[in-house]
Amino acid sequence: MAALFDKVCIAGIGLIGSSLARVVKRDGLAAVVTVLDTNPTHCAQAVELGIADTGGADVAEAVGGADLVVFCTPVGAYAELAAAMAPHLRAGAIVSDVGSVKMAAIRDIGPLLPEGVHFIPGHPIAGTEHSGPAAGFAELFEGRWCILTPPPGADEAALAKVRALWEATGSMIEVMEPAHHDRVLAITSHLPHLIAYTIVGTATDLEGTLQQEVIKFSASGFRDFTRIAASDPVMWRDIFLNNKEAVLDVLQRFTEDLTAMQRAIRWGEGDKLQEVFTRTRAIRRSIIDARQA
Ligand code: NAP
Repeated sequence: MAALFDKVCIAGIGLIGSSLARVVKRDGLAAVVTVLDTNPTHCAQAVELGIADTGGADVAEAVGGADLVVFCTPVGAYAELAAAMAPHLRAGAIVSDVGSVKMAAIRDIGPLLPEGVHFIPGHPIAGTEHSGPAAGFAELFEGRWCILTPPPGADEAALAKVRALWEATGSMIEVMEPAHHDRVLAITSHLPHLIAYTIVGTATDLEGTLQQEVIKFSASGFRDFTRIAASDPVMWRDIFLNNKEAVLDVLQRFTEDLTAMQRAIRWGEGDKLQEVFTRTRAIRRSIIDARQA
């Protein structure tokens, strides 16, 4: 494929940043790939792996001359990073991100960008529980959705370029309102992670012998939660702090539904339980049919 960009700067070379860098290198989508990361080990690893040409923590050096800068750090780092970058961004550059919360990305990056720099926020709906540049792989995004949330009046050419980048990863693209994105992800991703973190937390608070048995007999369901609950703590702290309203809203509804289940169990309402479990089984089938299992 012909190069889409002269110089791409990946800010935060972890699981997502390194997977994107791998695609950019594999397909020759940029002449140069630089890494901006506060972790010197990750910078060195990225260069060793051949997924970046240079890497370091010098903001001016990393973003200077770049025509695409992609924020791939935890969302909580956005505001400070955007402020540091702003004076060094070239006119006409595109700034994008991969963060799991979109209203916060728009709040924390958008206002700090100089005139003439285009902002096209994005979120690939793909990931694993692993972190760091060694955990990434070029195929991570294949067949997955990537949601773009361009602000009103966003530059069409910039949007087309970001779209082309994600299409090269093998993703399917959906353009969405950022507030809607945050509501959808609150139920599909953020609440499930909160539940997993809580269940695993509850189990680790159990008294000694019971806790050992939780590990021993985990294949009965618990271990599936532990995979989700092994996700990066900093990244998830930032997601909950930055998608507060939408998460609290779905959590309220979930708590009501959980209480209804509790009541059904207490009063032996088997029909009610079976009806809910039958509906949820159908959802699983729809996900398999949509090839998102
Ligand atoms: P990750 O593997 O932990 O990588 C983040 C990288 O950014 C690390 O190298 C980290 O260094 C570095 N970093 C942290 N603060 C920084 C700063 N202020 N300046 C420069 N670099 C900094 O995380 P990830 O899983 O790739 O997630 C990155 C972003 O993608 C998050 O915003 C997340 O919401 C989004 N996302 C994640 C997934 C997923 O499943 N993981 C899926 C879709 C989107 P240290 O390790 O030293 O902190």
